[in-house]
Amino acid sequence: MMFFAAAFLAAWSLVTATCAGECPSGGEEDAVEMLQAHLTHEGRLHEDAEIRGAGLTDDPLCEILRNATWPTGRVLCGDAQMQTYGWDVYNQECAGLTPRFLLEPQTVQDVQTAVKFAREHQVNISFRGSGHTYDCVAFKAGSLNIDLRTLGSNVTISYSGGSATAKMEPGVNFAKMFATLPSTLSFTHGTCESVGVMGYTLHGGWGATTSTWANESIVEIEVITADGELRTLNAANQGNEAKLWDAMHVAASSFGIVTNLTIQLFNHSERSFWFLPVLNSFDYLLSVLPDETSFGWIGLARWDSVFYQKNTILGSGWFLQIVLKDDSMWTKAKAVAWIMSKLIIIGITYQSPYSFPSSAETWDLGRYPFQTASVFTRFYPRTEIRGAAKLLEGFFAQHAADCRYNLGPIQGTAPRLPLVTVECNTPSSAELLKQFVKENSNVLQPNRPGSGYIKLPLDGSSSYRQAYFPQYAQLSATKCIWDPTDFFFLENGIHPSGCDSARAEPVKK
Ligand SMILES: Cc1cc2nc3c(=O)[nH]c(=O)nc-3n(C[C@H](O)[C@H](O)[C@H](O)COP(=O)(O)OP(=O)(O)OC[C@H]3O[C@@H](n4cnc5c(N)ncnc54)[C@H](O)[C@@H]3O)c2cc1C
Repeated sequence: MMFFAAAFLAAWSLVTATCAGECPSGGEEDAVEMLQAHLTHEGRLHEDAEIRGAGLTDDPLCEILRNATWPTGRVLCGDAQMQTYGWDVYNQECAGLTPRFLLEPQTVQDVQTAVKFAREHQVNISFRGSGHTYDCVAFKAGSLNIDLRTLGSNVTISYSGGSATAKMEPGVNFAKMFATLPSTLSFTHGTCESVGVMGYTLHGGWGATTSTWANESIVEIEVITADGELRTLNAANQGNEAKLWDAMHVAASSFGIVTNLTIQLFNHSERSFWFLPVLNSFDYLLSVLPDETSFGWIGLARWDSVFYQKNTILGSGWFLQIVLKDDSMWTKAKAVAWIMSKLIIIGITYQSPYSFPSSAETWDLGRYPFQTASVFTRFYPRTEIRGAAKLLEGFFAQHAADCRYNLGPIQGTAPRLPLVTVECNTPSSAELLKQFVKENSNVLQPNRPGSGYIKLPLDGSSSYRQAYFPQYAQLSATKCIWDPTDFFFLENGIHPSGCDSARAEPVKK
């Protein structure tokens, strides 16, 4: 208060001094406007100097954005201020895509203002959730980046007619969901607790413990579209909004910024997930791995050093990942019987990663960010998955210190096909993985719509668009309706085609 009172007096004397004898008619109104502008400016100076502790920027658009989002949005501009930003990203390369402006919004209106500002001033836009993208699509160098986490991370559970839904804000990650949900409810999620629920759910969302995609659970989406308007989408939409509703389930970030997401929850508790270090060879484990069992699903995984503290190698073996269909003693007994009948040797001396990194704080321990993150993930028919898994294991065995491997769990006759993943986290292993995928493209490259996806960072991966987006042409037509100028441009996203104002070709980052 003291500061603002002093600023008011100082500004008022500045206004009166400036206007003495020279103000045009209607000068009182102008003077008040000038005063307000000056006060706003003074407030910003104060905030920058005392809260950010960083220097000013001479970018004139910065002040315009600051004033437009005042007092709720917080804007960083210029190198000095940008250096104060806590990136909290999984892939360190993303922190090299320095934005021109970084907005931390507190209200939905702030985000709408930012969208309109970016359009008006022809600034590229980008927006992030929890920062777990492998390929840095949440960031663009020189853009206006919106950190959606500051919109909040509240989860509201509602019950109606025996079913439950969760409505969430953009800052919610899996850890927050686990902490909020009662044990009687569950949802489709990934393994890593720090992944953002919106980024995950709005682009598909594969989870080991359920046999449905996360996006199948979406009940309602509140989204800011390229025109800056806030819309509510749900299954009741008709016409163009119904098309947008469909598109938002697979490629949301090419179509808008989601400010609230409501998902349907499962009316049962989370399926138990056993994580057993074993000493058997990969070939043996692959040979006994069933498509499905009466007690649940089985997969294989291995990471020798990634996900641990830097320079710590806790083991060099495989994990069996067993998802139990329920928690009954009978089911558990059947799982144990299977383990014994297949002569599985549990590696009791092997330390399993009991605690996964779950928050930004753990990143300081040196697990994240990784130097880079290059990921191959692909779905295969059950008849083909083991062959592809073996091929990839051949690569992985050479680079186990820098990469991780996941196969399945294989989920029997579930409509979702089984998948195999290899992720590498050093520049050299990432590059080798890319080469390996190219050299073995007859097996590894997606060869039919929906056969999988490859996230190889920053390499113009739009050539794989058929694999990412089974209905690419349809999505492209919807893009024409809602974002014909490709305002929400993503290199490996959806681009408008066939509409007058569409960009001919996506521009390179
Ligand atoms: C260790 C690890 C494990 C993973 N495991 C799985 C897994 O088991 N299954 C799986 O399916 N995926 C998995 N993923 C991938 C993960 O789901 C995606 O990378 C997801 O997009 C991350 O979301 P985020 O908000 O954390 O990331 P961000 O980098 O912040 O965002 C990712 C993308 O989502 C967009 N986005 C974020 N928030 C919004 C919003 N509110 N509105 C519109 N767009 C938004 C961003 O613009 C960006 O394009 C994993 C990733 C990592 C790093």
